[in-house]
This record gives sequence, structure tokens and C-alpha cells, in this order.
Amino acid sequence: MANPLRPSSLLESVDQALSIKYNNLVYDLKSTGHDIITLSLGESFFDVPAPDFDGIEPDELHHYSHSRGLPELRRQLAKYYGNQFGLSVDPDHEILITAGSKVAIYLALLATVEPGDEVLVLEPFWLSYPTQVRLCGGVPVSVPHDVSVFGLGAYITGRTRAIIVNNPNNPSGHVYTAAELDHLHELADEHGLLLMVDEAYNEFVAPGTGFITCGAADPELRHTVTLNSMSKNYGISGWRVGYVIAHRTLIDQILKVNQHLITCAPTPLMRYLADHFDTLIEHTRPQIQQVVARRNEVADWLAERGIEVLPGESTFYLFASLGRSKLGSDAFADRLLRESGVCVVPGIAYGESCDHHIRVSVGTESPERIRRGLDAIARLIESTG
Ligand code: PMP
Repeated sequence: MANPLRPSSLLESVDQALSIKYNNLVYDLKSTGHDIITLSLGESFFDVPAPDFDGIEPDELHHYSHSRGLPELRRQLAKYYGNQFGLSVDPDHEILITAGSKVAIYLALLATVEPGDEVLVLEPFWLSYPTQVRLCGGVPVSVPHDVSVFGLGAYITGRTRAIIVNNPNNPSGHVYTAAELDHLHELADEHGLLLMVDEAYNEFVAPGTGFITCGAADPELRHTVTLNSMSKNYGISGWRVGYVIAHRTLIDQILKVNQHLITCAPTPLMRYLADHFDTLIEHTRPQIQQVVARRNEVADWLAERGIEVLPGESTFYLFASLGRSKLGSDAFADRLLRESGVCVVPGIAYGESCDHHIRVSVGTESPERIRRGLDAIARLIESTG
């Protein structure tokens, strides 16, 4: 007799998110009294004012709302992209807010990918992209980290449907240049591809770095899908508010899936964000600048210990090489955690070509504890070389 608990074949091909596996290990170790230096969390802890929902009407406090997202928040987001980045967005038709950008990316893929379609994911990629492509029946095509944007043409076939780009990049901190973005637009035009650009860390750039939104060079949104989130820029990842900006024909498709899977993002949170949009970002911006500066300082501390990182200058992540160590990244991260109480994410989570790297996140620990963590990393590289 068939086992009623058998998983679907689709899900059998899906692994746990490796970063979350390590975070769960941290929770387990901490609960048994271990002190863990946590350089693995995908978050930066900010001082964010506690929300006050007192003035919110009962309708919006407890109930569903528009499944494109609360109109006032859509208008705020459209204004933000227009004023800050020169991308004019129609809040009625070209934007949809949903329960986090993780879901937004999945909905955009579900709305566009046919079974067997190929989607290019650029290593080091944010680890959910390939899995989400698979969950849509698509085929993720990994591009190794040493291939530049200008070498992507070699990976495009007649089945390629889209390229997913993370700008700024988690985990390297790379911010795409105008020339790189122009080349991506050329590829999209030449081959009829979508550019899915995840801009979740767009505020995490050092002054003068000049973040460019990919859609700015595609004002009619002919092929650019922009994904973004309130999680990182506002320091409120637990609120689950993310959004997608795209051509209205795509948004109409995404809307259908959103209605069937999510209904709407949390209504009272969207109301609060719409009412406090500017004051909240003004509150986090100086803190964002501090953590970006810390990140770049940690790059120097790593260099002092002879540890190289992939080029990048933004976010709160560094993608550090394991240098002489003979360990694979999962074994390295496992030993580092068990022997020294320091948690990082193994590079293999970000693609096959990244198995000789680890991701170091500096958003949640003090400088003194970060230095101790780096010392432990340097020691383990040395002793396993
Ligand atoms: N994109 C990137 C690059 C991320 O790092 C994350 C979260 N770690 C997300 C998207 C998802 O963010 P959220 O679902 O909280 O909006």
C-alpha cells in the first residue's frame, strides 16, 4: 500500500535552506546554555520605534485589505522609487505588495516560468532563487562566481526565460555598475528575457556608491521586474512586507496568484508603514550607514588575518575565502560552530563554485565579538590547511 505520508516528487528535490539550518542549530545550542558568536543571521538589528496601532480604524486593524496592497502604501512606494531612483511607477497597476519579498519573487516566477524554462542564477546567489525556480517547474542554471555579467551570454539558450540579479548582492556586497546593468538590458532585449532584480538591500550602500535601480533604464518596464522588501531597509523582517514592481500585464498575473496564496499582506502593518513611511526610513538610515561602515571595517580586519573576500562594499555581509583550508564549506562551518562556538553560513549554500567560501554577517554582534569570531575562523583555516 502506498505510504500516505510520502512527499511529492517536487518537494523531494528540495532541501532545507542551509542558512536557516545553521540558525536553528544556534537556537538549539543557545537553549542548552552555549554562548554562540552569531555571524550567520541574515539581519541587522536596529533600534526601531515600537509601533503604536492606536489610531488605526477597526477595519484596518483586524481585516483583509486590497490584495494589490493598501493603496496608500503603494503610493508611498511608488513615490520612493520615483523620487530616489528616477523610476516612475503607477501605484494602481505596476506594484503589488505581499507577505515579504521571498514570496514576491516566487509569485513573479510562478507567473512567468513554464516547466523546463531555464532561469540564470548568478553565484553567489541568494539561496532561495534556485529552489523557487524548481518549485515552479523551471530549471535553475547556475553561473559560477568568477564569470562576470559580460560573460553571461554563454549561458543563454533557447530555453532561457529570465535572469535573476541581486543588487546589492547578498552575500558578496557587490553593487552593480551602470555598465553591468546596461549589458543586462542588452541581453534581455536581444534574447527576449526578463530581468528579475532583487533590490532588498538597496539602502545598504556607502555614501557615493550610487545605487542604480535596474528599472531606471527600462521606464516602460518591458522586461524588468523589481523585487524589494521593507525587511532589511526598515529593520522589520518579522513584519513580512515585500513588493514587486513590474509591467501591469505581469502584475495582473501575479495578483491572481497572490489572491489564491496570500490574500493580502498584513493590513495593520501596511497601514502603519504607509503613515510612517518617511520617518521610519529616516530613523534607520543612520543605523544602516553604521552597519555598512562596520562591514567595510570587518573587510580590513579579515585582510589583516590574511583572509580574502569577494569584491563588494555594501550590505552587512562578507563572502570570505577559506584560503589554504582543505575543508569544504559545510564541514568548515560545522567544525567552527562545534569547536569555537562561532556560526557562519557555508558558501556551498550560494552555489557549487562557492564551496571554498563562508558568509560572515556583521549585523548582530559587537565589534569585540566579531573580532573573536574572525580569530577563530583564521585559526581553523590555519589548522586545516
Ligand atoms: N532577497 C534577499 C537577497 C534576501 O537576503 C532576503 C532575506 N534574507 C530576501 C530577499 C527575503 O526577504 P523578505 O522575504 O524578508 O522580504
